[in-house]
Formats: sequence, structure tokens, C-alpha cells
Amino acid sequence: MKPAAFDYDRPNDLAAATSQIAQGDGMVKAMAGGQSLGAMLNLRLAQPQGVVDLRSIQELSSATETAEAVTLGACVTHARIEDRRVPDATRGLMPKVAADIAYRAIRNRGTIGGSLVHADPAADWVSTLSLLNATAIIGGPNGRREMRMEEFLLGAFETALGMDEILIAVRIEKFSANARWGYWKFCRKTGEFAEAIGGVLIDPARKICRAVIGATNGKPYVIHDARGIADQFDAHRAMQAVEAAGMGEDAYERQMHFVALQRAAAAIHTT
Ligand SMILES: Cc1cc2nc3c(=O)[nH]c(=O)nc-3n(C[C@H](O)[C@H](O)[C@H](O)COP(=O)(O)OP(=O)(O)OC[C@H]3O[C@@H](n4cnc5c(N)ncnc54)[C@H](O)[C@@H]3O)c2cc1C
Repeated sequence: MKPAAFDYDRPNDLAAATSQIAQGDGMVKAMAGGQSLGAMLNLRLAQPQGVVDLRSIQELSSATETAEAVTLGACVTHARIEDRRVPDATRGLMPKVAADIAYRAIRNRGTIGGSLVHADPAADWVSTLSLLNATAIIGGPNGRREMRMEEFLLGAFETALGMDEILIAVRIEKFSANARWGYWKFCRKTGEFAEAIGGVLIDPARKICRAVIGATNGKPYVIHDARGIADQFDAHRAMQAVEAAGMGEDAYERQMHFVALQRAAAAIHTT
């Protein structure tokens, strides 16, 4: 199957891209790496009148660093994060996550912003950026606004991004020197989407002890006070969290999510 006909443009100016999308009234779609949108176009699940390719807009592919945070443009690819060609705020967590996304050919094109806006519950950045409580920087006809990940992600394939807006960047606060993390995902074979994701982060200097349960039926379930899960793993507490994340009904699903969280917590001792 081939896509329905659409207009294609590749502006190099952010204002031009934003205005084309805003004026498109929901019928003009942004494209980043095209790794998800391409399939949706080919299957005619998406039939936009126009596609605005964001890859020539410099700001969207840039990365900036301050003493407190790293800001990654929405079009930074998984491969650039994997290869540490952009600064890492997370003491190796993001490069490790990036390296395990799909296959290298997909990582060369797929972007952090495209993955986040697509909001597949099984996607790695959706869970990781929730664990990091990262900030989404959004642009539209009324200027810019910022949202924390928990507000930005609304559910499966659903975000708070308006039809006339684009995701410009993601800001990640830097880990302190003694921060530790663990991340575990189950997939049937290397390169596939996760069936269960567990992530933990302990950063005492920033008073963070957080965990995430990902690849759920909706948005990731973030445990802000993960004492008893991220540090001393308490099986009862972890199972309660898995059930609260909505994964309690099916015994197989429940066990997979429990073990993902358990293995993430165990991995914290190696980071
Ligand atoms: C075989 C295969 C295996 C995969 N395995 C994994 C995996 O293991 N883990 C994982 O996390 N992902 C996986 N992916 C998904 C991959 O990471 C894609 O890169 C990602 O889902 C989409 O990123 P993209 O840049 O290609 O976005 P696109 O396909 O270009 O866009 C996706 C959606 O986001 C919108 N969009 C894109 N950028 C913006 C923006 N800046 N502002 C507003 N809207 C925007 C588009 O309009 C579209 O709706 C896999 C994909 C494939 C094909």
C-alpha cells in the first residue's frame, strides 16, 4: 500500500514550520525521522494534506548545556544520544536507553521528539523521560510553553500538544555526581518494542528516589516516592505499584512488569 497524496515541504525556519502546521487545521503533520509516521502514511492510518519535514530546522537538531540541565532539540536522533554526540545529563542512562531502541538504521533517523509525540506506551523515551521528570518545550502560534512530562503525556498515543503546536525540545536536569539509576526492558527479541519497562533513579543530592513502570496500557506510572522499591526492594510494595499502574489483571503481564521493576532496582548497584 502507498500513501495518499500529500504536499511536502522542508522549511529551514522554525517560524515557517510552526505557521504551516498551525494553519493546516490538523491536516498538516510534522515529520521528524519518519520512522513511525512513514508506516502510518503507507498504511493510510494518517492521510494528511501536507507533511512538514522538520529536519532542516537547526534549533530542533541542536543540543545546549548549562550548569543545571541539558536541552535536546526535538529532532536529535537516538543515534546521536547513543554515540554521546550530544551532552548527557544522566550519567550514562540516556546513551544506554538509546542504544537499545530498535536497530541502528532506525536509530539513525528516529528522534527523541518524534518518539515522545507519537507517545507509544512501549517506547523507551516515553518511560525514560517520565522517570527523569523532563520538561517538554512546545511552540505554537501563541508562543512557547513548557510542561513536565507527567502533564505532557496524557495516555496511549496521546499528548497535551495542540494540533497547531510542535515540540521544540526536551530539557533534562543534570544528575548529581552520586546519582544512580537502573533501567530494564523486556522485549521478545532485540530491536523490538518493550513488553514491560522498569526504571529507577536515586539522586540523594536532589532528594530524588523515583521509579517508573512503563509499557503499560496508558502513560507510564511514575512512583515519586520509591523508597522501598528503588533502594531496598520490597516485593510487596513493588507488586502494589504494578497493580496501581493498571497491570494487575493478567498474571503474565503483572509478573513481567514486576520483574522489570525488580531488575531495574537490582541494576542500580552497577551504575
Ligand atoms: C521496527 C521498529 C522498531 C522500533 N523499536 C523501538 C523501540 O524498541 N523503542 C522505541 O522507543 N521506539 C522504537 N521504534 C520507534 C522509533 O523510535 C521512532 O523513531 C519513533 O517512534 C518516532 O520517531 P520519529 O522521529 O521517526 O518520528 P516520526 O515518525 O517522524 O513522527 C512520529 C509522530 O510524531 C509527530 N512529530 C514528530 N516530531 C514532532 C515534533 N517535533 N513536534 C510535533 N510533532 C512531531 C509526527 O507528526 C508523527 O505523528 C521502532 C520503530 C520501528 C519502525
